[in-house]
Amino acid sequence: MILPIIAYGDPVLRKECEAITAEYPDLKELIANMYETMYDAYGVGLAAPQVGLPIRLFVIDTTPFAEDEDLTKEEQSQLKDFRRIFINAKVLEETGDEWAFNEGCLSIPEVREDVFRKPKIKIEYQDEDFKTHVEEFEGLVARVIQHEYDHIDGILFTDKLSTLKKRLIKSRLVNISKGNISVDYKMRFPSMKKKR
Ligand SMILES: [Zn+2]
Repeated sequence: MILPIIAYGDPVLRKECEAITAEYPDLKELIANMYETMYDAYGVGLAAPQVGLPIRLFVIDTTPFAEDEDLTKEEQSQLKDFRRIFINAKVLEETGDEWAFNEGCLSIPEVREDVFRKPKIKIEYQDEDFKTHVEEFEGLVARVIQHEYDHIDGILFTDKLSTLKKRLIKSRLVNISKGNISVDYKMRFPSMKKKR
């Protein structure tokens, strides 16, 4: 089932999300719905608060990035079929010199800006069977994880922009929160919440 994606301005996107246990109701179904919602919107990652749930869960599939011809063969193969579910994730380490990548977010349609992040991460997380993993990632895979991980801490990529850039995109963010935007996937805007 395709779920509406929560737009910028909704307080759920600002919550520090809660850890979950294997007893979380209908988790498998939620994960399936999150993937369906993400693919429908042509995203490469989706975090639970983006579908209105303040829990520490996000899903990733970087396959669309693998088609980028500017990447090396090695990078392409790394991105191809990288499909992963992260539950109760905790970034243990971020290392290297920050690099810029033009990020976007399904909750903030049509806004894209360069964001600086460190290239390597070490992360502890649980998979859908609640088995714990500690893994290291780098490059674009790390980038997508960092973006989604920020979501479960209530952080959006626009928070990481310079004061000037923030000022320049402010009216666009206000328009998104008011629903004054045309988008070709299902969204829920904060100003619409109380209607009906
Ligand atoms: Zn996002």
